[in-house]
Amino acid sequence: MRIGVVGLGQMGLAMAGRLVEQGAEVLGFDLDAGRCDGARARGVQVVAKVEQAAAPVMLLSLPQDRAVEAVMLALLPALPKQAVVADTSTLDPLAAQRFAAAASDWGVDYLDAPVSGGPAGAAAGTLAMMLGGDAAAIERARSALALVATKLVHVGGPGAGQVAKLVNNLMVATHLAVAGEALRLGALAGVAPEALLPVVNAASGRSAATEVNFPRWILPGGFDSGFSAGLMRKDVRLALALAESVGAALPVCGPAAAQWEAAQVADSADFNHVPAAILGGK
Ligand code: NAD
Repeated sequence: MRIGVVGLGQMGLAMAGRLVEQGAEVLGFDLDAGRCDGARARGVQVVAKVEQAAAPVMLLSLPQDRAVEAVMLALLPALPKQAVVADTSTLDPLAAQRFAAAASDWGVDYLDAPVSGGPAGAAAGTLAMMLGGDAAAIERARSALALVATKLVHVGGPGAGQVAKLVNNLMVATHLAVAGEALRLGALAGVAPEALLPVVNAASGRSAATEVNFPRWILPGGFDSGFSAGLMRKDVRLALALAESVGAALPVCGPAAAQWEAAQVADSADFNHVPAAILGGK
């Protein structure tokens, strides 16, 4: 099976490495030379131009709409008819709809295919993938997508996968802020977060924030989850813009999401620094 992967960052390289391990022939492209070296070391055939990565199934893993636009412009003329581009980047749903329309002009199917599970889930092939687009195209790509994702959910037409992902990440951002604030209350009242977490996780206040982020990355201070604060800020901004575009009030998630803008955390830092700052605040 021949698969092209464009964007060999935290997620793209983890997916490409997994595909190689599963016996796929993987063509990879990234603008960053260091990331290309890392991919070569994992058995990816790194190409010099994005169009040389053209294959019947493509996975994109890029930071924002602008990068996807540039890649699609160069890639579409090089792809075989009926190729499927599964875009695992988190984007504006409207951008996904634009890319799907542009692809269909070339006889290619573009699926919005954002993922959850982080680099560890990608490396293990256990991502959850939220698909927006044509059902027949999903079937054509299914055997390739199933190598990186155990949960493939067809949410709806173009853009629906991105709506699902933005809803998910707005909840993640909110849960993390809420957990940081509530654990701070406990600490100020005399019970340390280390004592509180096992209790919450055995009770009904638990979430991925309390079960994974706080015990694995925040309390030990490792901060190496592989997801940057800048990418989470982007996701939160996209979710707030989506809410505005459909006239949805966010009286709870809105102020929690604002914490991601207010926290003095560098975009390049791990995203767990934001709830850590909330926990450490007054
Ligand atoms: P990253 O910054 O580590 O990787 C992005 C890669 O894209 C970089 O290597 C960069 O050089 C490359 N790139 C940028 N523009 C390019 C172009 N025009 N052509 C080719 N390569 C280009 O980011 P990441 O953490 O891997 O995230 C990628 C996408 O996946 C983002 O949209 C993010 O929101 C989403 N995502 C990330 C995670 C995570 O845990 N890291 C989880 C789910 C979804």
